[in-house]
Amino acid sequence: MEATVGVPLSQMWTVAKYVVTQRLKGVKRYPLVLMLEPLFRCNLACAGCGKIQFPANILKQNLSPEKCFQAVEECGAPIVSIPGGEPLLHPQMPEIVAGLVARKKFVYLCTNAILLEKHLENYPPSKYLTFSIHLDGIKEDHDAAVCREGIYDKAISAIKAAVKAGHRVTTNSTLFNNADPERVRQMFDQLAELGIESMMLSPGYQYEKAPDQEHFLKRNQTVSMFRRILSAPKKAWKFNHSPLFLEFLKGNWELECTPWGNPTYNIFGWQKPCYLLEEGYAETFEELMSSTSWEAYGRKSGNEKCRDCMVHCGHEPTAVDQTFSSWKGFMKVVSLTLFGSKDNQQPLPTPEPIPAPHYTVSDSDLYQLELPAEDESCESETEALVER
Ligand code: SF4
Ligand code: SF4
Repeated sequence: MEATVGVPLSQMWTVAKYVVTQRLKGVKRYPLVLMLEPLFRCNLACAGCGKIQFPANILKQNLSPEKCFQAVEECGAPIVSIPGGEPLLHPQMPEIVAGLVARKKFVYLCTNAILLEKHLENYPPSKYLTFSIHLDGIKEDHDAAVCREGIYDKAISAIKAAVKAGHRVTTNSTLFNNADPERVRQMFDQLAELGIESMMLSPGYQYEKAPDQEHFLKRNQTVSMFRRILSAPKKAWKFNHSPLFLEFLKGNWELECTPWGNPTYNIFGWQKPCYLLEEGYAETFEELMSSTSWEAYGRKSGNEKCRDCMVHCGHEPTAVDQTFSSWKGFMKVVSLTLFGSKDNQQPLPTPEPIPAPHYTVSDSDLYQLELPAEDESCESETEALVER
C-alpha cells in the first residue's frame, strides 16, 4: 500500500500548469513556494527553533500587508507559505491572508494553533487557505518538542474546530533524531481520525541559531528513521508531499536541492539562499535570483552546510519539477501510485540510537516578549500566555 497524496486536484492542476509554463518559457530557475515570514516573534520557545533568537527590536517588527503583497507579486510563486514566528500574533494577518486569497494564491498559514480557535472567525474558509498546524508528535513528544505542556491538547482542539468550520487543515511535523518511528506512526493514526486534509513532514536540519544543536539529523539517520516511519503506510495516511520526496526521505530516490524553489522573504528582505542559511539578503526578488551563487549550495556542491540536508523546502521543489517536467520522474510517480514503494526489499541503514527527549518544560525558558505599545492585541494575548 502506498501513502496517498492529500492535495486537492485544483491545486495540483495549478501547480502542474505553472511548472510546465515555466519550462516552456525556458525559465531555468523558478520559485514554487514563497516562504513569507511576516514576523519572528512567537508565543512558544521551541528548542529547535531558529527564528525567535533575534533581538527584541527585530522581534517587535511586522511586515506590512503592502510589503507582503509586493513580495508575492515580485515572486510569482503559486503557493505562499506563512511561517513565523507565530503568524496569528500579527495584528494584520487577516488582511494579509484575504489579500493573498484574492490574488488566488494557495496560502498555508503555519501556526502552533494556540490562538487559532480564538481567531478562526477572522478567516473565511476558502479553497485557497489551509491552516498548517505545527505538531511534532503524540502528546508527550509534542509538548516536549515545544517545551511547554498542554500545547498538544490545544492544537488538537483547534484542528477539530477548524475542520468543523469547513477549513482545509494540514499538519506540519519537524522530526529530529530523538523521534521514535512507532510513536510518529501513532500520531499519523490519531491525525487521520480528525478529518485533516494531509500531513507534512520534514527532517529537522541545522539552524545555526537554534539553542538545541544536538538533535539535528545526519543523512543516514534521516533515511533510517523515515524508512521505519513510512514502511507499510496505511491508506488513511495522506501526505502533502510529492511521492518522489517521500521516496527521497527513505533513500530510494535521489534529489538535489533546489534552493531557489522556496525563496524566503522577511523584514530583512530576500534571504540567501534558503531559510536555514543566513548568507545575506537581497532587496528584490530579481536581485536574489541574479546575485546568489546557486551552484554553491546543495549536496553536489560539496558545501559542508548542505551535506546532510534533506529538508522539505529544498527538495520538494525538485520532486515537483521532476514529476511534471521529466518522463523519468513522471513514470516513477505512476509506478509508485500503481504498485507502491519497493523500499521494504532494501536493507535498512544501521539505525542510530534514539536518545530520550531531554527538553525541560519550564516557565523561565519561555520567551518573554516586549511588544510595541501600538500592538496591544498581541500584547494582551501574549502576556496571557506567558502568565499561564
Ligand atoms: S512554534 Fe516553536 S518552532 Fe514555531 S516559531 Fe514558535 S518557537 Fe519557533
Ligand atoms: S541543501 Fe538546500 S535547503 Fe539545505 S541548507 Fe543547503 S541550500 Fe538550504
